Amino acid sequence: MSKLKQNLLDFSFDELQTFCISNNLPKFRATQIWRWIYCFGTQLFHEMKNISKSDKAFLDQIAYVPRLNVSEIYESKDGTIKWLVKLDDNSEIETVYIPQDDRGTVCLSSQVGCTLNCSFCHTGTQALVRNLTAGEIIGQLMLVMDHLKDWPSGKNGRKVTNIVMMGMGEPLLNYEEVSKSIKIMMSDDGISISRRRITLSTSGIIPYIDKAGTDLGVNLAISLHAVNDPLRNKLVPINKKYNLQELINTCRNYPNLSNSRRITWEYVMLRGINDTEDDAKNLVKLISGIPSKINLIPFNPWPGSFFETSTKQSIDNFAKIVMDAGFASPVRKPRGQDIYAACGQLKSETEKIRKSQINKLVPLHTI
Ligand code: SAH
Ligand code: SF4
Repeated sequence: MSKLKQNLLDFSFDELQTFCISNNLPKFRATQIWRWIYCFGTQLFHEMKNISKSDKAFLDQIAYVPRLNVSEIYESKDGTIKWLVKLDDNSEIETVYIPQDDRGTVCLSSQVGCTLNCSFCHTGTQALVRNLTAGEIIGQLMLVMDHLKDWPSGKNGRKVTNIVMMGMGEPLLNYEEVSKSIKIMMSDDGISISRRRITLSTSGIIPYIDKAGTDLGVNLAISLHAVNDPLRNKLVPINKKYNLQELINTCRNYPNLSNSRRITWEYVMLRGINDTEDDAKNLVKLISGIPSKINLIPFNPWPGSFFETSTKQSIDNFAKIVMDAGFASPVRKPRGQDIYAACGQLKSETEKIRKSQINKLVPLHTI
């Protein structure tokens, strides 16, 4: 695709409008184009029926609506689908679709790799890191909708109902592009996914947490994983910069928290590291008074990782303590583990693991 043409997926609605005006197109063309792109999944201007022939031809010369290049699609026994996407600079990211009884969730990446090096996370071991553009973030959602034939976007029984920013990367270290793409997903005139169905997960980049709550109003998930600073410094090293108490205080003030709008605390269960009954009791104390859900994630192993998943017994004990304290505490069932699509397993180098090998892997813990 010619670099001289403008990629329209990189535009907010306002930017699209400015683009139309500055190219002497009527302002209302922006609304029409936006609907074709985001309600109907249309890529070609000549298929945009209510646009004049001459404007279609002109748009063809100055703009384009791309799709990301998919290099592999993996499908798990449990229905989870993972796409390995090759970007224009040849770097790679992964996108996951997780079907459940009452919803279909797309897990989006926000960066190529991640700079934060959490010790239990495969993504953090990837050398190459860069921010994704808004077009690359929204493009992941569009490729999933294409694959699932989920256009037009507002139809009954849509397959993509929820979005989690829980793929590769730290979304709050790429705030501008992430917030732009989330606004595109939420646009009523487009993909129209409600803020209540979008969750942004962060390891705790404090300066952007309140901003995300105010600007976007999406659900917040915090990758907590430890309840004291010395351990959290080791597991989630960004804690050395933004410590636990500051993080908790920031979350306590997250806009519009209520019983129907709670913070999700993600807690990866690492055998012998953070999974004792005392840890569970301290967790309860730490978040007391904050409308909360706790999401216990059995550690998902990856090649070369040196942690182990907690035993079922210690996960059950831990869950019971937090539930007895009045917090909802679902244990997250690993999804797509056989295709390396589970939390923390995403790393673009998965293509180096031969497919034959992937097919032989069996989920280690199914709870
Ligand atoms: N960077 C963001 C979002 C992506 S990670 C964040 O850290 O919040 C999504 C969740 O998976 C995070 O809670 C992360 O800590 C967790 N995770 C990472 N590696 C994991 C692993 N190997 N097993 C289970 N969960 C993991
Ligand atoms: Fe980055 Fe999140 Fe992985 Fe930590 S857990 S390395 S913040 S992707």
